[in-house]
Amino acid sequence: MRKQPPLTKNRLKYVYNSLEHNHFQSSYGMTMPGRNGSATDQYRYGYQGSEKDDEVKGNGNSYTTHFRQHDPRVGRWLSIDPKSRKFPWSSPYVSMSNNPIYYNDPLGDEFIGTDKKSARRVKRNMKNETFSREQFKDFRKLIKVKGDRFKKIAQNDFDDATRNLSTDEKALALGYFKMINAPEKHFINAVKRRESVDLDHSELTVTNLKQAFVNAGISSGQDADDKLGGGGNIASSGQSLTVVVVDSKALVNDFEHPNIIDPSTGDVKKISRSSSFGELIAHEAIGHGLGALSGSSTSGHEDAIQMTNLFLRTTSSPNGAFRTGESHGTGVRLNESQRSSIPAHVTP
Ligand SMILES: [Zn+2]
Repeated sequence: MRKQPPLTKNRLKYVYNSLEHNHFQSSYGMTMPGRNGSATDQYRYGYQGSEKDDEVKGNGNSYTTHFRQHDPRVGRWLSIDPKSRKFPWSSPYVSMSNNPIYYNDPLGDEFIGTDKKSARRVKRNMKNETFSREQFKDFRKLIKVKGDRFKKIAQNDFDDATRNLSTDEKALALGYFKMINAPEKHFINAVKRRESVDLDHSELTVTNLKQAFVNAGISSGQDADDKLGGGGNIASSGQSLTVVVVDSKALVNDFEHPNIIDPSTGDVKKISRSSSFGELIAHEAIGHGLGALSGSSTSGHEDAIQMTNLFLRTTSSPNGAFRTGESHGTGVRLNESQRSSIPAHVTP
């Protein structure tokens, strides 16, 4: 491969401006450090629970409309971090387009806790809840955190560790594998109800993500639990920000189990239950966040419900309960195929 001039800051800036100029015009007319992010175009809230807050719901709806025009390239472009300068022979364009390096870049670790505590909590949860079953023991060994972020997992290690899994199990593992190896930056704050949310991170440069939570009045775990039903995610311009409540008490009202019948009507009964920590991570971060930035086609609603249901089918105590989606996003009851499919962005 012929060597090209090193990617200097100025050259990177030129590439951004010339190729993505239109995408990066901020609707607010403001410029973020080093990059112009679209403030509203790809906004998204993900809700685990019912949406009581009209103002927030309004945002979500407008997001949904705009998100359909989302160009996943925007996310990839903005995800380029200083590490890409370690590949001076390869332009950011090349490194981000259908190159095997996409999911194998050993230098990028882009599933990031907003603090070390959050990263540790998520890691522990993955080992103790989400992937606690025996068949995940090889995959569990690949889950490592250094400081505030997950360490990349090599494709061949992932393939070896998941070779004997069922399709559902493989899909769940693939979601986390893709998250950990994402070309985008996904931030997660894992917070207890009694703690403050911590949404500051030096690499969280799409500042409107934090602002969206602030505007929604989310300053504590209790706020996130009570107002967002256990957590939320917002994604824009190559970054996503998730808040999940470790000890959620918020009731989510659209669960059903085929064997739990309302004796007065003879119909399957709606079940209200709170969400486990692992379930919230799957729903918010993998369903909404990864879904949005990997260009999912279902505007996040189905992806997130499907991730919840994939989680329920796959984790340590599968018992046949599922979410219908009626208390989520669009408020539409998903049919069996819609709610039980594997989301396209984590299909093995
Ligand atoms: Zn949701």
